[in-house]
Amino acid sequence: MTPITAATAPVLPGATIGVLGGGQLGRMFAMAARRLGYRVHTLSPDHDTPTGQIADLEVFASYDDIGKVRDFARGVDVVTFEFENVPAAAAAVAAEHAPVRPSGRALEIAQHRIREKTFLVQHGLPVAPFAPIRQAADLDPALAMIGRPSVLKAAALGYDGKGQARLDATTDALEAWRSLGEPEAVLEQFVDLDREISVIGARGVDGGWSYFGPIENVHRNHILDVSTAPADLAAPLAAQAIEATKAVMDGLEYVGILCVEFFVTRGGQVLINELAPRPHNSGHLTSDACRTSQFEQQLRAICGLPLGSPELLQPAAMANLLGDVWSQGTPNWAAALRYPEIKLHLYGKSQPRSGRKMGHLTAMGASAADARRLVLAAREALGGSSR
Ligand code: AMP
Repeated sequence: MTPITAATAPVLPGATIGVLGGGQLGRMFAMAARRLGYRVHTLSPDHDTPTGQIADLEVFASYDDIGKVRDFARGVDVVTFEFENVPAAAAAVAAEHAPVRPSGRALEIAQHRIREKTFLVQHGLPVAPFAPIRQAADLDPALAMIGRPSVLKAAALGYDGKGQARLDATTDALEAWRSLGEPEAVLEQFVDLDREISVIGARGVDGGWSYFGPIENVHRNHILDVSTAPADLAAPLAAQAIEATKAVMDGLEYVGILCVEFFVTRGGQVLINELAPRPHNSGHLTSDACRTSQFEQQLRAICGLPLGSPELLQPAAMANLLGDVWSQGTPNWAAALRYPEIKLHLYGKSQPRSGRKMGHLTAMGASAADARRLVLAAREALGGSSR
C-alpha cells in the first residue's frame, strides 16, 4: 500500500481549491466543488468572470504577478487550472505553497506544440507528420519534408484555429508565417479526416485512472460546434484512442483531467491532434449524461479522492451557443426549454461577441443521432427573438 504523506493525503470537503483562470470551465468546476462542500478561489486578469461569479473569492491579477500568485496559493489547499496558458513561473511559485495539479511540467508541455509533439513522438504515440519552425530558414526544408496541403500552426497561445494558416499548392509560406507574426510554429501535414474524436482522461494522485469517451466532435470555423457520445467508431479505433490517452497521462505522471483530441483519418489511423490539460468543451455533455461529470472528476482527481464512475447513462449530444446566436436579439430560451430532453447551460457572460462561447445545450436521446437531432432542433428554435 502507498503510505499516506502530506503530498498524497486527500484534500477533503471544507478545504479550499484555487483555480487559475476565470472562464466557463472554472465556473462548472466551481459548481461541482461547491456542491461537494469545498470553497473555491479563482485568480484571473478579469473582473466578474464566469468562475468568479460562482467562487467564494475572485482575485483580480495578472498570471505574471508572482507576488499575487504566491499570496493566492498560500490561501488554498490545492491549485488547479481551467486555462493552460499560465506561465511556468506562476505554476512554480504556486507549487511552493500548495500542491499544483496537474503539474507545471504537464502544463509546459501541453501549452507548446513543439514540446507537445516531441513528447508524443518520444513516447511512441501517433501524430500527423510535422516539422518545427523556429526561423524563416526552416520553412523550405520543412515543406520539402511535409508537403502540401499542410497547416502552419503557431506553437503557443493558439486555440480554436487561431494562429493557423493553411498552405495550399500556391500559398507563399514565408508570407503565411509572417501573417501569423513569425512565431515558433509547427508545419503539420493536412490529414484526410474521416472524423474527430476526443477522450477525456482522469488520473488520480495514486495513478488510478478513468476516462470519458471517445466523444465525436464536429467543428465549424475551427470552433467546436457539436459533440456526441458515444462516438460512431469501430471498437479497435476507440481502443487505440483510449490506450493513447492513458499512455499520455502515465507519461506525464498526470494528476487531474486531460483531454486528448484525435484525428481519425480515412485510412483508419488514429492520430493525436492536441492535448488540453483541463476539462474540455467536448466533455460538457458529461454534466448531464454521465454518472460523474468531468468537473466532479477533476475535483476528485486533484483532491486525492476515489474517481467517480464515468458511465454514460444515455446517448447524448452537446451544441455550443456562440455569441452569434444573439445576432437577432435575445435568444428564444422558452422555445428550447420546451423540449423535455434539453438542458440549457449559460456561462454568465454579458457581451455576446461573435465566436465567443456563451453557453451550450445538451440533449439526451435514444441514440447519439437522436440526441444530436434534438439538440440541433432546440438550438434552431432559439433563433426567433423572445421579445
Ligand atoms: P487545432 O487548433 O489544431 O485543434 O485545429 C483546429 C481544427 O482545424 C481541428 O479540429 C481540425 O478540424 C482542423 N485541423 C487542424 N489541423 C489539421 C490537419 N493537420 N489536418 C486536417 N485538419 C486539421
